[in-house]
Amino acid sequence: MNRLSAPLLALLLATPLVAAQHIPPHSLPPPISPPLLARPAYDPHPPAPSSQPESVPATEPETPPPFDPPESGLECTPGHVIVGCVQVPIFQERGPYSQAPRWPGVIPYEYDGNVTQASRTLFDAAMAEVESYCNVDFVPREWFHTSWLHIQTSNASNAPIGLGPGERIVNISNFNIHYTSVHELFHVLGVYHEQSRTDRNTFVTINTASICQDCCMGGPCNSQFEIEASSGSIGLYNFDSFMHYPATAFSTGGNTITVQPAFAAIWQNRIGQRSHWSFGDRSTAIFLHQPGWAKIAQIGGSNGPGTWANPFNNFPDAYNAAPTGGDVILRSGYFTGLGLRTKAMRIHAPDGGVRIGQ
Ligand SMILES: [Zn+2]
Repeated sequence: MNRLSAPLLALLLATPLVAAQHIPPHSLPPPISPPLLARPAYDPHPPAPSSQPESVPATEPETPPPFDPPESGLECTPGHVIVGCVQVPIFQERGPYSQAPRWPGVIPYEYDGNVTQASRTLFDAAMAEVESYCNVDFVPREWFHTSWLHIQTSNASNAPIGLGPGERIVNISNFNIHYTSVHELFHVLGVYHEQSRTDRNTFVTINTASICQDCCMGGPCNSQFEIEASSGSIGLYNFDSFMHYPATAFSTGGNTITVQPAFAAIWQNRIGQRSHWSFGDRSTAIFLHQPGWAKIAQIGGSNGPGTWANPFNNFPDAYNAAPTGGDVILRSGYFTGLGLRTKAMRIHAPDGGVRIGQ
């Protein structure tokens, strides 16, 4: 077979139609922009990166990653899925996530007295947007909560990674930059910066000589560019993530991050966007906190209801259970039953090593 099969084309071509839907929170996720099969539009005026330090507290791995290594014997170019005998690019981006405990769906929060009502309204919108992409609820703190976010105005923006005891301080320097707030909330969900991935040196180079030496609490900012060894590197490197630093982050003038030549023409001037959810950001949210519209399938074992703990054991059931505009996550393995599919759907292969046959 030397071209895409008609059923596959139907599946892929149906996908961008999702973008036109209005999707309320907690039913279906809002559409990502731009459509899935196109490169993201370049925002020529991204918000300037903060010159203030952004510190992310280190965490020790306490639990194993919630995925198994891909099955052996599946020969497939990374970033592709095999349909019949054709390798097709598939979106399998997923951000580097912490292995520290995650919030159990409900995330209590409170505002510091230094956050104005206008800023609270803006941050409320950021929380609502994160809620609309995954299965978390931000709720006002009650007396019985043992962990909560304390959101305050500060001269820097940063947030703690994942769940921890007591008050978890989220600092925001400018509530008007919507996707900076979303970025910090992603740290709360347990996500590191994209350039912290263990394989990042294949994609970018950190220029140590350009890193400011007195901008981070009066000292060097080198720690802002460290690799998080425990964070894993599954999926394609996501230059378009809102969790990536801009090229001149913590710089004395030149670029602190240079994109490797093979990718530079497209991405050197685009990394660090704070304007939209990339597909990979969406995948990360679904991976960490599975929403009802995303169904999991994994070969072997009993069949579904499509959760991480009890996945479907075949592709058609997962596809049928996911609503129009929803997501199917395929664990590594060979799936059959591609058939003719016309329902708009996003298919993820976050572990790689996926084949779909007729
Ligand atoms: Zn950050």
